[in-house]
Amino acid sequence: MARILDEPRYVCALGSSQTVQAIHRAVPVFHSGPGCASRVAGNGSGTGYLATNTFPCSNIGETEVVFGGEGKLRDIIANSLKVIDGDLFVVLSGCTTEIVGDDIERIVGEFRDAEKPVIAVSTPGFKGTNYEGHEWVMDAIVKQYLARLPKREKIKGLVNIWGPVPSHDPYWLGDLRELENLVRELGLTPNIIFGEHRGMENLDRVPQAEFNLLVSPWIGLGNVELLEKTFGTPYLHYPVLPIGARESSAFLRAVAGFAGLDMDAVEALITRHEREYYYYIERSVSIFFENRTASKMFSTVSTASRALALARFLVNDFGLMPNKQYITENVPPEHQERIAGYFRDFNYGIKAEVVFSTDGYLIHRQIEEEYYAGPPLIAGSIFEKQIAKKLSGNFVCVSAPFQQKVVLHSSYAGYHGGLKFLEDLYTGVYQTYN
Ligand code: SF4
Repeated sequence: MARILDEPRYVCALGSSQTVQAIHRAVPVFHSGPGCASRVAGNGSGTGYLATNTFPCSNIGETEVVFGGEGKLRDIIANSLKVIDGDLFVVLSGCTTEIVGDDIERIVGEFRDAEKPVIAVSTPGFKGTNYEGHEWVMDAIVKQYLARLPKREKIKGLVNIWGPVPSHDPYWLGDLRELENLVRELGLTPNIIFGEHRGMENLDRVPQAEFNLLVSPWIGLGNVELLEKTFGTPYLHYPVLPIGARESSAFLRAVAGFAGLDMDAVEALITRHEREYYYYIERSVSIFFENRTASKMFSTVSTASRALALARFLVNDFGLMPNKQYITENVPPEHQERIAGYFRDFNYGIKAEVVFSTDGYLIHRQIEEEYYAGPPLIAGSIFEKQIAKKLSGNFVCVSAPFQQKVVLHSSYAGYHGGLKFLEDLYTGVYQTYN
């Protein structure tokens, strides 16, 4: 029987064009209908070196559905190479061109000797979400681009950082920069390919890293495994995006331990950070605990990464109790039990039940039935604003769809990110009740 999915929080795999766009001077080339391209273009990636509404697209129509679209793909690649000053061209396929059976890899193979690299990724919506598409794009870059570069020496201390998925998460870039800062403070050299003026120079250095650092519960795991297989680079899988003092200190110790660094220097760094962090917490403690409208229990409604990061912070650092945690990005079944395990590992033996659901209607019905010992705190997307209001609860918008505030470079990661999250949370509490 047909089922209606209410309020999905992801887009189709073609939305992984955002991953390409996040690599400075990389160009997504859509082999799809114009409707697909405009749907993804409306997803908040904004402008930049190349804006979403100027991406090249083969504009598949009725004729190509009947006779195939390979000719149009060949033309759009050739013309894109002529008129767009890019460094890497990534062809992304939509549903129609996959269903009619266009041989996209063969057409892309005709451009093997082009001045700029051209690669192909199969990203039809019927295969998966933009989160899975992100992994497929990265796999394609490793196999079709990085593996063909001349072999170069490893660089001691160089660490590739992976984790936040570009653009779909409003805090992705600020979080990446904060991870970069933390790793740099350890005396290592962070290497991130996404964001301003990183681009091809950093991408080309990926095979030279001493190790890969993945900060994510599941997205990107396949990529770091592939990088290990292809370039012999070991990886550290750290599932929790660190927010606040406890988690950031644990993160620094884990990365330093993996890199074999001097732990005395690391502990001195941690002490410096924690002294600053707890100074701000102590100054504000009256706001947090004298506010009678503040919540005691919370639910997150977000991606596995954001939900886990916030739940760990709110329980381990801030002392709230978790209710159900709703994970919304259609996590593949093989990752679900492991992710649920991360939510059974809080301090003091505290555990949270995890619900994997993509359906906003079902999530909201469950939230309404839960007991929160007072006004609930709901950390979710804009879809959760009304249910929080209906329950006279507190709300903080942390994930897509966002449309709640403008995020330019702020971050919830790290020591400063924990303070920023508390600012946003209690600003919301004040605005609701004063
Ligand atoms: S699901 Fe398929 S048809 Fe719809 S936008 Fe994505 S690629 Fe296009």
